[in-house]
Amino acid sequence: MPDLLMLRAQKICAQKKLRFTPNRQYVFQLMAKQKGAISAYDLLEKLKLHDTKAQPPTIYRALDFLLENHFIHRVESINAYLMCDHFGCEHPMQLLICDQCKNVIALSDPVIDDAFLAQAKQSGFKIANKVLEAHGICYNCLTH
Ligand SMILES: [Zn+2]
Ligand SMILES: [Zn+2]
Repeated sequence: MPDLLMLRAQKICAQKKLRFTPNRQYVFQLMAKQKGAISAYDLLEKLKLHDTKAQPPTIYRALDFLLENHFIHRVESINAYLMCDHFGCEHPMQLLICDQCKNVIALSDPVIDDAFLAQAKQSGFKIANKVLEAHGICYNCLTH
């Protein structure tokens, strides 16, 4: 329900006094309609249908805004973006990426996250940026 998501996003932005510009809202809507992950390039192509003058900085600024406010996630290993199910809050994340259909299953298991952080701490390692992504074939692709 993209419209419902949009209402929730607008509410969060109003509460946090964030500038949810028409452009940011449009990119948000494109993301919400998207099943799985999408690249900035593909988003730009979609944005151009709506705004023929759209340039890469337009899309990157909007994506930065959406990332910063936890509406979307970056999928590092395929250089793409994914709508966040949790919406507007930080959470642990592990991604399962289907190499066939490009669907991305987002897990948010705190136990995995804690174990990972504990292991890093044991090695005396201070994590600045953490990415847990696995590639493979999803159930749908396996059974069809
Ligand atoms: Zn999320
Ligand atoms: Zn698949």
